[in-house]
Amino acid sequence: MDHFSYRRRILHCEEVPIPSLAERYGTPLYVYSKATLLHHLRQLQHAFAAVRPLICYSVKTNGNLHICRLMIEHGAGADVTSGGELYRALRSGATGDKIVFAGVGKTDAEFRYALDSNILMFNVESEAELHALAEVAGQLGRPARVALRVNPALPPKTHVKTDTSVKGTKFGLDIDSLLEFARPMVRHPHVQVVGLHMHLGSPILTTEPYREGVEKGLLLIDALRQQGHPIEYLNMGGGFGIHYRRQAALPASAFAEVIVPAVQKARCKLILEPGRFIVGNAGILVSRVLYTKDSGGKHFVIQDAAMNDLIRPTLYDSFHRIWPVAPADDIPAPPTDYEDDIPGTIKTEVVGPICESGDFLAHDRRLPPLHRGELLAIFSAGAYGMSMSSNYNGRCRAAEVLVDGATHRLIRRRETFEDLVRAEIEV
Ligand SMILES: *Cc1c(COP(=O)(O)O)cnc(C)c1O
Repeated sequence: MDHFSYRRRILHCEEVPIPSLAERYGTPLYVYSKATLLHHLRQLQHAFAAVRPLICYSVKTNGNLHICRLMIEHGAGADVTSGGELYRALRSGATGDKIVFAGVGKTDAEFRYALDSNILMFNVESEAELHALAEVAGQLGRPARVALRVNPALPPKTHVKTDTSVKGTKFGLDIDSLLEFARPMVRHPHVQVVGLHMHLGSPILTTEPYREGVEKGLLLIDALRQQGHPIEYLNMGGGFGIHYRRQAALPASAFAEVIVPAVQKARCKLILEPGRFIVGNAGILVSRVLYTKDSGGKHFVIQDAAMNDLIRPTLYDSFHRIWPVAPADDIPAPPTDYEDDIPGTIKTEVVGPICESGDFLAHDRRLPPLHRGELLAIFSAGAYGMSMSSNYNGRCRAAEVLVDGATHRLIRRRETFEDLVRAEIEV
C-alpha cells in the first residue's frame, strides 16, 4: 500500500496535490510519502515481532538524511556499504550499536572509522578482508565483531546484476569452504565471529530463496558453534520485492513465516537489511513533458527526467509505471497491470534529454497522448533512484520533497551550476 492516489483526476501524495509541488520546486522532482515509509517499516516490525529483530535500513537504497533519520527515530538501525554511508547513518542519528557494515572492498580507513564508531559488526566477505580487519583492530586495540557473509549458492532468482547469491558472484564466502576458513578464527585476539550473514539478491518475489537460505544457514550456525564460535546473530539481508509492473510482491508476513521459525530454532537474534521494501513505493519521480516527436516509426515523449535521475531502466531494464499527473477527463485511471491493452493510449518511448540512446524511462509503453508542459509521475522510484543519480551531461541533480499529511518539506534542494564544479580546483 502507498499514499499516492488520484483525487478529482489529480495525483496526490497523501494530502498534497503533486502539481503544487512541481510548481514550487520545479522538475524533475522526487516526492516521498512519510506515511508510506513508516507503514512499510511497521509492516516488517510487526511481521517479525515474535523474534524482536534489529531492522537495519539499507542506506544505499536512499540515503537522504531525513529519510535515514525517520527510520532511526522509529526504531531502525542502519546497514551501510561504505564509509560515506556510515557517515550518513551517524549524521542521521544512528548509534554504532545498530549499524552493520557490508561490502567486498572495505578499506583500512573504513575499518578504522567503523571501529572508532563502535559499530555492531562487519559483514566479512573474504579471507583477505578478515585478515586486514584483524590487523587494523589489533592496531587500534578494539576487537572487531564480525558476521561471516556466506554465498549460499542458490539458483538464479532475479536480474543478473542484482543477484548476489548464485555461485560465481563476487559476494560472500564460498559455502563449501566457509567452515574450513572459520576454524582457525576461534578465539582470535582481535576478531570475534558472532554472526552469519547472507543477502540473497534483490528484488525477490517468492519465499523459496529465503527458505533455502535459512536451511543452509542453520546448518552452518550449528557447525560454527561446534567449532567454538559464539554465534548470536543471523542476518538475512534485504531483498524483499515490491510492486513495479503489477501486484506481484509478497507481504512481509510471508517472508516472516519462513524466517522466524528458523531464527527461533537457531536461538539467534535476527538482523534484516531492507531497503527497497521500505522506500521503493514511498517515492515517485515527477517530470515535465518537453516535446513529442515521431521518428523511425516510433512515438517519442521527451521529458525532463533522464537516466542521470533514474538509471534503473537503463541499467536493469526495470519497469516503472508512468502516468500523467493530471490526466484529461477521457483518460482512464492508471492501470495496475500493464499486460492489458488500454483504450485511448498509444505506444510511446519515454526518453530524457541525455545524449545516449540508453537514456529512456520506458519503451513501447501505452500512454495517453501527451502534450508539452504536462506533468508525468514515474512511480516506485524511491529506491535506487536518487541514490544512483549523477551529474552526467552536466545535469543538476533533482530536488527531493518529503510529504507528511497536508504538509511538505524540501529535504534536498535542486543542485545549481555552481554545485557542478564545486569540488574542482579553480582554473
Ligand atoms: C543492497 C543491499 C541490501 C538492501 O537490499 P534491498 O533489496 O533494497 O532490500 C541489503 N543488504 C545488503 C548487503 C545489500 O547489498
